[in-house]
Amino acid sequence: MRVLVTGGAGFIGSHTVVALMEAGHEPVVLDNLSNSRASVIRRVGEITGSAPEFHEMDIRDQEALTELASQGFDACVHFAALKAVGESVEQPIRYYENNVAGTISLLSVLLETGIENFVFSSSATVYGIPQSLPMTEDMPIGEATNPYGQSKIMMEQVLADVQIANPTWSVSLLRYFNPVGAHHSSLIGEDPRGIPNNLMPYVAQVAEGRLPKLRVFGGDYPTPDGTGIRDFIHVVDLAAGHVAALEGLAGKPGVHIHNLGTGRGHSVLELVSAYEGASGQPIPYEIVERRAGDVAESWADVSKARSELGWATERDLIDMCRDSWGWQSRAK
Ligand code: NAD
Ligand code: UDP
Repeated sequence: MRVLVTGGAGFIGSHTVVALMEAGHEPVVLDNLSNSRASVIRRVGEITGSAPEFHEMDIRDQEALTELASQGFDACVHFAALKAVGESVEQPIRYYENNVAGTISLLSVLLETGIENFVFSSSATVYGIPQSLPMTEDMPIGEATNPYGQSKIMMEQVLADVQIANPTWSVSLLRYFNPVGAHHSSLIGEDPRGIPNNLMPYVAQVAEGRLPKLRVFGGDYPTPDGTGIRDFIHVVDLAAGHVAALEGLAGKPGVHIHNLGTGRGHSVLELVSAYEGASGQPIPYEIVERRAGDVAESWADVSKARSELGWATERDLIDMCRDSWGWQSRAK
């Protein structure tokens, strides 16, 4: 399949481009490089043997996008979005403009150019506070606690409506749990600008000695060690989930919703201890107040993805920490 990949120079996008190429597909990357670098494309080429076609372009540039999309694609995988939760609270217009208006603009180009297979990067955040665990795809959409989460809920709704109006469309909503890790080559990985917001990149910088210590948000959750529990998923497994979704769902009309996680939860302190083991570095930490908007526990029921997409994760928390550390400790 020839696949238009928006945000394909980013963390999850770049790993998915590798997975698509390794599966024999032809990804074409579009990215405005607002949170990534062009060198990622070259590195993807080092991994796969040839760099993918790349266009530095914004999804909101309708004219340029229409010209590109008219070249003929079988599908679009849409990663491009801004993703910093705290920043979305401070700059809601920027987030809705980029993530919601940007996606709507992209969709109108796809409608015009007849690209009918669409894969969307959604998030477990759409469930809000889980009613029960593990989280299943038929659980109701919850309340977003920030504009970033709200933008994912809004886009799921828009996509469902677009599919109703265009019944031949196949829309895949992939609800990611907590993507972490890096490619085992250490050539691509997560490269946050400034101080990381997410746990694993923060821990990685503490291990490297760039940050003095981790602040663990909350030690009084009703969990075995009192810290929050998340379903961390290796980004290479997550990337494979996109290939499975494309291969399994392209040409199958409807809205298809799948959780992408491991189905297992690990606490913040379990991750810290695994990272110390993988890196051989101490991770000093202190337990501080809970972070507003965090849920105590989150992990996925992955049986739907397993049975419908034939996909399951292969990598565990140790692999995630080892590959994150390989990437982090490599001179970039
Ligand atoms: P990322 O920032 O590394 O990648 C996003 C890419 O999109 C970047 O390369 C950025 O330059 C590009 N981009 C942003 N706005 C654009 C625009 N208007 N036009 C063109 N390119 C644009 O983030 P990521 O972690 O790879 O996330 C990819 C997707 O997955 C996002 O939609 C994100 O919301 C979603 N997601 C991420 C996580 C996570 O924890 N990383 C969890 C759930 C969902
Ligand atoms: N967390 C933490 N310290 C940090 C960053 C995150 O203790 O500096 C905790 C956070 O409270 C949550 C877990 O790590 O319990 C995962 O947070 P992250 O931001 O990585 O992902 P989220 O699940 O919030 O999307």
